[in-house]
Amino acid sequence: MTTTAEKVKTYQNYVDGEWAAASGGKTYGVLNPATEDVIGLAPDSARDDMSRAIAAARQAFDEGPWPQMSLRDRSRIIRQIADGMNQRKDDIRQLLVSEAAAEYATHPVNLENPIQYMYDYADLTVKYPFEEMVQPDVVDMGMGPRLINQMVYRAPVGVCGLIPTWNFPLFVTIQKVGPALAAGCTMVIKPSPYAPLINLLLAEIVQQTDLPAGVFNVVCGEGVDIGSELVDSPLVDKISFTGSVATGKKIMEAGARTLKRIHLELGGKSPNIILDDMDVNAVAPGAASPAFFHAGQGCVMTTRVLVPSEKHDNLVQSMVGFVSQFVKIGDPADPQVLLGPLIREERRLKVEEYIASGKEQGAELATGGGRPKDLAKGYFLEPTIFANVKNDMRIAQEEIFGPVVSVIPYKDEEEAIRIANDTRYGLGASILTTDVAKAHRMAKRLRAGTVTINGGGPPRFVPFGGFKESGIGREGGKYGLDEYTEIMAIQWG
Ligand code: NAD
Repeated sequence: MTTTAEKVKTYQNYVDGEWAAASGGKTYGVLNPATEDVIGLAPDSARDDMSRAIAAARQAFDEGPWPQMSLRDRSRIIRQIADGMNQRKDDIRQLLVSEAAAEYATHPVNLENPIQYMYDYADLTVKYPFEEMVQPDVVDMGMGPRLINQMVYRAPVGVCGLIPTWNFPLFVTIQKVGPALAAGCTMVIKPSPYAPLINLLLAEIVQQTDLPAGVFNVVCGEGVDIGSELVDSPLVDKISFTGSVATGKKIMEAGARTLKRIHLELGGKSPNIILDDMDVNAVAPGAASPAFFHAGQGCVMTTRVLVPSEKHDNLVQSMVGFVSQFVKIGDPADPQVLLGPLIREERRLKVEEYIASGKEQGAELATGGGRPKDLAKGYFLEPTIFANVKNDMRIAQEEIFGPVVSVIPYKDEEEAIRIANDTRYGLGASILTTDVAKAHRMAKRLRAGTVTINGGGPPRFVPFGGFKESGIGREGGKYGLDEYTEIMAIQWG
């Protein structure tokens, strides 16, 4: 690790509208995964730093103007944040590249979508049905009939602890912050230790707006204590976490002690079902994409490619041809680079363990599997494709979160559906065919939160979330906003 600490900026937490160093002034170095250089010193906070932020968010919710502010004003302030993001787009882009190793090919999702979504949430604030009249009722409790008027009011859920991840850091943060603000909640963000700086840049943007102090707070640190403090605190009403299944389960368990609303966006092992009417050469680049797109570090990537047995070899050949010819590996600061590094060395070692297990369990390594020879620095791995994988192998069952794809042959469509559903995950699935009617029938038999037929896009107006161990709850548009409200009934005579 190159320490250029004397040249890099020291960042602070954002609490109650002000910048504050971590208690004891502790910091830690945030790395650029491509160069291994320290790009900034983030505050390394302790439980008491988190407690102060929670108290500020609690006070802003219980006594501040935000939850009661008119929807027009709330919308206006959310729009100010979106405008601020738009104005600082170049700074955001730079940080996404250096902190999250975000290749230019990911920028539509990493950069453009979050800005667009923030505008969407500003619009949604004034369109969302916070108040709905319900059919009146006539009741007789023994004193004669009475007409009861009734309505449903969606109140803000309260103080939210937001724990986003690092792979699409701004996207994930905005999918939490946008609906939380729209609903009138206050919040404390606990960024991933790998990508705190983008969240602090968002705090700089927020500080320039009319958002009341205490509504939006960011507390960073390397350890898990501050996350635990957020989950344990009785002052926090809801946790929204994006990360691994293992951490999600711990959060759910700890959150149960205070009966918090727990929203979990977790991992996936999504199938890509190629039906026998498809030209395998045409679908090969897309099928291979988890072996290079953002180094396979995406929750909903289709890392299990299911192909009719008779087309298996041709597909694998075409996928290998594509990655060896077209995938440029290197520092994502180069716009031509398609495959950047993994986020950290410990994550690369974990992916290498999976590659070894694939070989040991008898999968055929069709390409990749090693470290690129010409890159001395950075946590790079080659695009890796395993062929003739069996669905009970570890590389087919466990989320690898690296540039590794498994190609699994199947006999017939019934078997394809069985294999697709034979996983503890249920985040996404893809079907490729010219027979769209058949694909719709298949889609409804898949146990996954999102099914795309011949390709899809980021979840702008549709809900996003998982079945089974891929999570609980939905993000995105109106469905995301639902999750930040408590449903109240109000009746009057
Ligand atoms: P992770 O589980 O390692 O999460 C780490 C985060 O959780 C850190 O911020 C850490 O401080 C915090 N943490 C750890 N223990 C905690 C505890 N006991 N209480 C509170 N906080 C605690 O996951 P990661 O590496 O950040 O993210 C990668 C995972 O995220 C992958 O599994 C990926 O599929 C998933 N993901 C899901 C989505 C989605 O929308 N479903 C999107 C992106 C990524």
